[in-house]
Amino acid sequence: MRIAVFSTKPYDRAHLAEANAQLDTPHELTFLEARLTAETAALGGGHDAVCLFVNDDASPTALDTLADGGVRLVLTRSAGFNHIDLDAADRLGMPVARVPAYSPYAVAEHAVALLLALNRKLHRAYSRVRDQNFSLAGLEGFDVHGKTLGIVGTGTIGTVFARLMRGFHCEVLAHDPYPNEEIPRLRGTYVGLDELLERSHIISLHCPLTADTHHLLDAAAFGRMQEGALVVNTSRGGLVDAAAAVEALKSGHLGGLAIDVYEEEADLFFEDHSEEVLTDDTFARLLSFPNVLVTAHQAFFTTEALQNIAETTIGNATAFESGSGELHTVPAP
Ligand code: NAD
Repeated sequence: MRIAVFSTKPYDRAHLAEANAQLDTPHELTFLEARLTAETAALGGGHDAVCLFVNDDASPTALDTLADGGVRLVLTRSAGFNHIDLDAADRLGMPVARVPAYSPYAVAEHAVALLLALNRKLHRAYSRVRDQNFSLAGLEGFDVHGKTLGIVGTGTIGTVFARLMRGFHCEVLAHDPYPNEEIPRLRGTYVGLDELLERSHIISLHCPLTADTHHLLDAAAFGRMQEGALVVNTSRGGLVDAAAAVEALKSGHLGGLAIDVYEEEADLFFEDHSEEVLTDDTFARLLSFPNVLVTAHQAFFTTEALQNIAETTIGNATAFESGSGELHTVPAP
């Protein structure tokens, strides 16, 4: 198949080319740096499939342009698919294939790293000691041991996170409309969302972004939390109302926020904007807090995860073309 691969970086190209080279008849991959938008969709013309990543925008207009250009399949190098308009893809008869599971350890381990760094203020300590400032003032954290941890979403990643955090002997509270039998085995307890917010010292988000979960953490949710609670979000930016988070941080009620994802990340993340003025005032305000730690959607970024993603994506294309092998389609809405 001829596949236009949008939003590629050198590491994507290396892993996809390696997975593709394993095939007897490799696909023809066109690596594009451009992000898919309605304006760039014409670049997909003349290809059988497009391959996307999380900040591509497969809107109805973009998908119409792709279909007009002969594209018959949408591949995404991610588990999440909230960047693809599934109704439009269904209307155009384009299956959407994703990577349902790849190293859940990558994301769960990053969530642990964010939590520990935020709590023990490693981001501040790192800069301080390089400036020969060896003062400890302001670096006080708390023992994670014995604290109550709330996990929202106990699918693949949330469950690995729960297992890792068991090592800290936290009391684990979980919330998920579809409970996972592994959680009680890890001595976790399912509770309603309000109870989880009210009782947890640490809250970590691992549910998908849907219409139901958009701004799951809003002003009311932050208000329910304990004074000084820490929030970690490695899932999707839209789960957190960033403006409400700013207010909760300003009042001192929210103890700290560590995010790998941000609602308006699409125009920022994965690129070097260091020579530009930051025009997103909410994001700029978030960056100004000493108790906010941001990584730029790197939780998935391990060698193992990149290999899994490339192999499954190339496998999806082969399964679509040959009619055999597993095509991991997202069910039509
Ligand atoms: P998964 O589908 O295995 O698990 C998601 C869980 O969330 C399911 O158990 C589901 O029932 C639950 N859920 C759905 N609605 C909920 C709600 N309203 N409240 C609580 N739980 C709810 O997905 P996963 O592989 O564990 O991934 C979790 C999320 O992590 C993905 O949706 C994706 O957005 C994010 N992710 C981020 C990165 C990154 O690099 N930062 C990488 C991969 C995945």
